[in-house]
Amino acid sequence: MLNIILFGAPGAGKGTQSREIVKKYDLAYISTGEILRKEIAEETELGLKAKDVINRGELLSDELIIGIIEHAIEQAGDKGVLFDGFPRTVKQAEALEALLEHHERHLSIVLSLSVPREELIQRMLKRAEIEGRVDDNEEVIQNRFKEYEAKTKPVADFYVQKGKLQKVDGTGAVEEVLNRLTIEIDKIK
Ligand code: AMP
Repeated sequence: MLNIILFGAPGAGKGTQSREIVKKYDLAYISTGEILRKEIAEETELGLKAKDVINRGELLSDELIIGIIEHAIEQAGDKGVLFDGFPRTVKQAEALEALLEHHERHLSIVLSLSVPREELIQRMLKRAEIEGRVDDNEEVIQNRFKEYEAKTKPVADFYVQKGKLQKVDGTGAVEEVLNRLTIEIDKIK
């Protein structure tokens, strides 16, 4: 059973690539960002809590995110899972270890998309025009990068130490990047 983390900076193409990988390998898709945006649209209690934090480009509390993930893993049933946008802190990564063990799942691989900073910004500004995400404006983007550098980058080291991290060139056309990712997934299947 495949249990994959798609890792990368904001704008690296995690969402776009996830949708393709999930289809190709018939995986359950767990995107904390997507879950939160749905909660905001439905104006739930969780959505109300999340809204301002997301709009500032900051990270939500680990407790809140881990709660979301616990529920989502249960919902995945017998399917393999693709995590997008999680874990974003070392504490979340540690919690995931325990959760996977509890559900007798094994982390297959962490695929880390690398894209130069300038291109990340261009992609997010373009996405703002197409999707209208409120957190895709220049000021908030800078905050999201700050959070990424301070809290999320150490997650990559966490998985390097476990021998789980595979870097993948995230530049070029969507199909090219997808091809690079599937080569890595097929290697471990
Ligand atoms: P994303 O769609 O993955 O870029 O997530 C959008 C926003 O949701 C982030 O900028 C955070 O504010 C929040 N968020 C998503 N996933 C997480 C996470 N794992 N930990 C903390 N905050 C998160």
